[in-house]
Amino acid sequence: MTTELIIAPPASGKTTACIQRIQEVQKEHPLAQVWVLVPDGQKGVYFRTRLAAAGGGMGVTTGTFRDLYRDILERSGTFVPAISQALGHRLVQETVKEVHASGELTHYSAIMEKPGFLIALQDAFAELRGALVRPERFLEYTRDATPARYELAQLYSRFLSRLKALNWIDQEGQSWLAIDTLESDPKAAAHLRLVVADGFTSFTGARRQFLRLLGQQVGELFVTLPGKIGSSRMVHHRSLAVIETLQSDLSPKVTELDAAPRLPPEILHVEQHVLDPGDFEIQETHKPIMLEARSQSEEARETLRWIKELNVRQNIPLSACAVFVSNLDMYQPLLRAAANEFGVKVHFSQPDPLAESPAVLAMLALLTHPLEDYPTRTLLNTLHSPYFDFAMEAKDLENLEKVSQQAIIVLGQEQWKVAWEMLEKSRAHASVQLDDERQRKDLTDGIDLRILRSNLDRFWELYSQIDTERSQADWVEWLENLLAKLGFYDRISSECDREACTSLGDALKALVISEGVVGISKINYAQFLTDLQGALNGARVDEPRESRHNALLVGRMVEARGSRFKAVVLLGLSEGLFPVVENPDPFLDEDIRKDMGLEARLGREQASIFYQAFTRSDTYLLLTRPYLSGDGEPWEASPYWLSVQKLFTENAIIKIKPGTIRTQADAASPNELLFWAVQQQELQYRGDKDLTARWQSLGKAHAILDSRRAKNARGIYEGNVEQIASSLAGHYSAEYDWSASRLEEYGSCPYRFFVNSTLKLAPKTTPEPGLDAAQIGSIYHRILELVYKQVKENNAMPLDILGEVADYVFKNAPEEFDFRPSPLWEVEKDQYKEKLRETLLALEEERQDWHPIGLERKFGFKGIPPLELDIGEEVIRLHGVIDRVDRNSMGEFRVIDYKTGSTHLEKSDLTSGLRLQLPIYALAAQQAPDLGQVVEGFYWKINDAKPSSFKLSNFKLEDIEGPEAAYRVAKDHIQKNVSGIRSGKFSPKAPKGGCPDYCPATQWCWRYQAGYKND
Ligand code: SF4
Repeated sequence: MTTELIIAPPASGKTTACIQRIQEVQKEHPLAQVWVLVPDGQKGVYFRTRLAAAGGGMGVTTGTFRDLYRDILERSGTFVPAISQALGHRLVQETVKEVHASGELTHYSAIMEKPGFLIALQDAFAELRGALVRPERFLEYTRDATPARYELAQLYSRFLSRLKALNWIDQEGQSWLAIDTLESDPKAAAHLRLVVADGFTSFTGARRQFLRLLGQQVGELFVTLPGKIGSSRMVHHRSLAVIETLQSDLSPKVTELDAAPRLPPEILHVEQHVLDPGDFEIQETHKPIMLEARSQSEEARETLRWIKELNVRQNIPLSACAVFVSNLDMYQPLLRAAANEFGVKVHFSQPDPLAESPAVLAMLALLTHPLEDYPTRTLLNTLHSPYFDFAMEAKDLENLEKVSQQAIIVLGQEQWKVAWEMLEKSRAHASVQLDDERQRKDLTDGIDLRILRSNLDRFWELYSQIDTERSQADWVEWLENLLAKLGFYDRISSECDREACTSLGDALKALVISEGVVGISKINYAQFLTDLQGALNGARVDEPRESRHNALLVGRMVEARGSRFKAVVLLGLSEGLFPVVENPDPFLDEDIRKDMGLEARLGREQASIFYQAFTRSDTYLLLTRPYLSGDGEPWEASPYWLSVQKLFTENAIIKIKPGTIRTQADAASPNELLFWAVQQQELQYRGDKDLTARWQSLGKAHAILDSRRAKNARGIYEGNVEQIASSLAGHYSAEYDWSASRLEEYGSCPYRFFVNSTLKLAPKTTPEPGLDAAQIGSIYHRILELVYKQVKENNAMPLDILGEVADYVFKNAPEEFDFRPSPLWEVEKDQYKEKLRETLLALEEERQDWHPIGLERKFGFKGIPPLELDIGEEVIRLHGVIDRVDRNSMGEFRVIDYKTGSTHLEKSDLTSGLRLQLPIYALAAQQAPDLGQVVEGFYWKINDAKPSSFKLSNFKLEDIEGPEAAYRVAKDHIQKNVSGIRSGKFSPKAPKGGCPDYCPATQWCWRYQAGYKND
């Protein structure tokens, strides 16, 4: 029974020494049983491959510590079921509840239900277990300590007691059982002739104790560790500390291998001098070994390109390459995206969290709706989800979207119920189309509301049984039925989703088992969802086994040990990324760690981790870093980068700048090749049909971009659709009924007219409670109409009747004007009344000899003749509603148009064609048989309580003035606009003062100019 510790720097023959020892033992004892302990499965594969290459490994078992624990326990007849991650999470949750119920949890009570707290506790318990910290010792240690420490010890103790009472074991607990078995049975591992531990850089307290006991029973214990005895170099600090501890615990015979590391010259140069203030020679590299990219995303792309090049040009298998990063959470999505684009198969050492899988996210969204009262946006997103079959057509979903916008459904089943009734009613009382400022479009026009409603009712039924309390198992059954009903599992098609479903099944199983473990209790839906989320939070989606075959390994820097690769890339060598900024552990602080024998969280020897990582490569090494931060500021290099940089001439570094001309042959994907070809204005691979076709379409895209970047908008990519002029002329024929606002829209911006009025495109907005500008305008108009109706008919005083009229309109306003009152509605009503009071006061001062005789006078609607306007070459038809017509004692007329906004109401707005309404309405009044000569007209600014400075009477054009001058200008604009519309001239033109936010094209229009305020 001997224990030998082999120490040598990386790549200096430690694994070879292990294999030689195995062969020697097998030669002496051909039937000897040998165990090789490795840190993980990846290293196991590596060791077995080396063993096979050296002549075979019959009788040799390779596995992790956990595998050996299990083996020893099974041989001794001990079988204790191990809890899964999800079940462990549940048990921690129950323990926290129990300690809280006993009144012993005060410090952590505020966060006791947070998923993050439960996960942190699980990790803390695992670390304490790994360090062989017995609960009695921890309780004693914290007896007079702070509540935070004492409560942690309480939770730990209760968790372990509970586990023991249930006769289950957690993952780390297996080591304790194995240690107990070795202590109680001195022959438990005596059947093993040799145990080898290779590829480790350190051992937890439990593992050291296990090795110590093992060393007393097995024929021989052979342990390797990286390091150099007596070295004072920073990169060896950590390994020397580990060696010292192991020497003290195991009292081994120590052998130091004296072979020089078998590393290529450049890596050897780094190995010998990095982070070393001593003398060294600056070396040349024949190719760059350090790469700086602008951002982390480009860094990931360059990494994958470098790997792909080695794979394609040097025939290096992907499985012989590895990428290590300090923060895998940060780099994993970037590397995954680049790998997908470049077609490089990758395998991540850290599986994705189950709760972030798209299928599980969709399921959680479906389940969360009732607790959040069905917010409309997320409800519609769920209905659109490809993971469920709600037996609805795409058209139904589009129509539901329209209904929600029309009826402003913000959330809740109740709002949908009221909306169906309200829409049916308002459809029955559909009014004529008024001017655009105050008429909301009916988005539900043509929709069969009855059928749509019954379709949605089927969705509500899915939740019809959630109001009862059930056991966990019954809830899981309910969920399984729900998912089956919606065809969830039938719709799973990708490998990743399939794996996620398997993990989901495990998590659900854990919930059911946990009930058997912690006892059955009936819980409500909200509690079930919390428990489910807790189980999912702790779980991860295993990558398909096949995905590891011949794939590039991407792992964390600390995982770079044990295996060797032909090519290694280390990413993120910039300040703050690596070495990482260390933060104290809020649960297990540094004092506890020191006193309980846990690894320190601060002052970790990251230099040793770096040293281990770059020495993994046998042939190729690349170090990378981003040189710009997210906000475009220069990003300082990490001290490790600077230390390597010092060892080589400047040829060792390549900096990828945005303007760097890349060789097209180096592109890693067709997209990248085309991107570079566009930059270089030449495609070098004209022989490839697919690339050539895409290159030609990019040529077209180029023409579009050029056109959009031109100073003046023109051409077929900028709204010119002369090709369809004949159909436009047919649609906007002499019979077409124009409105002033449509003609103004064209005058304001032809492209807006095209998108809004011709194509009828409208942005989808999330419904919100409250009124929009159109609805406020409609309410103001209605109140002013009813007030002046009484003035006209009863000679009433406007200010005397305002309150009563306003209250009457407000009462039915939500139904009549299709809006959902916000909590501010009561306050808003008072504000609207006050505005109207001020405006009526000013209107009355303005009235003098004028008397209202026409209110809401329509023309061109329901049998009332339109305005037929002679614009020179033809007569066009116009419709509209004149807000108010007044007559004076001389029998003259004036028109007033109320406006809630106050912009574009000046004289210049008529001159430029932005505002044509007033002269058109004046002409309509003049043509009406019961009215006559119009001598005045103006816009009334309701909010400002004053008329526009532009009045028909003060408008001048060269030698004419008054209404006639305004008519002349308006007719010229109308003629020009109608002709432009018919000939398909719709080039965008940002209006003076900026584009209106309600223009549907603001989302994509290249001529958009900010600045407009819809007041
Ligand atoms: S965003 Fe501006 S320029 Fe573009 S279509 Fe709308 S109004 Fe015209």
